[in-house]
Amino acid sequence: MGNSETRRKAASLRNKQIRAKIPVSAYSAGERPRFVADCMLGKLAKWLRIAGFDVLYSNRFSDDELIALSNSEGRILLSLDSRLLVRKAVTNFIYMESRDLQDQIRQILDCTHARKFLSPLSRCLECNEPLTDVPPESVHNRVPAYVFKTQSHFKLCPGCRKIFWSGSHRSSIFRVLESLSPGERSGFPTSTHEKH
Ligand SMILES: [Zn+2]
Repeated sequence: MGNSETRRKAASLRNKQIRAKIPVSAYSAGERPRFVADCMLGKLAKWLRIAGFDVLYSNRFSDDELIALSNSEGRILLSLDSRLLVRKAVTNFIYMESRDLQDQIRQILDCTHARKFLSPLSRCLECNEPLTDVPPESVHNRVPAYVFKTQSHFKLCPGCRKIFWSGSHRSSIFRVLESLSPGERSGFPTSTHEKH
């Protein structure tokens, strides 16, 4: 038996073990799920934040740190790594079986029943902090003059102090999110904002 065959068999065994350990009702439909994503899933983490979810991500988290954050904070561990997920200490997780971003988001929304919690652009994409509304006069000197003149709603990230406002990319972000959650359009807020 060649090396690649051995690896393939080992991977297939891990996949079986991972499937066997997922409890039937693992993900409560009642509350907004929170996540911690492995270092391969930076893009997914960003999109989940765009969709309004609390996602911890760092490309410096070790496997032990990922597991500790998942267990101590009740976060669903998102990972592509079956070697990580077969570990006994991992109890709350979603095994990302596709490398395609849209498939990944769809898989997460399907198994956590979290479509009703979609709240696009309510969270800072870099810091993961929820954004807060700020009065326009408070950002007068912090945004370009044309933005101040044409926008009426501004939000602030309490972490990095960046100002967000509605912008030209808004419709494309919404289109992507809507394509992932057909029929849920009414769940989207009407006011939004975006990083400049
Ligand atoms: Zn921020």
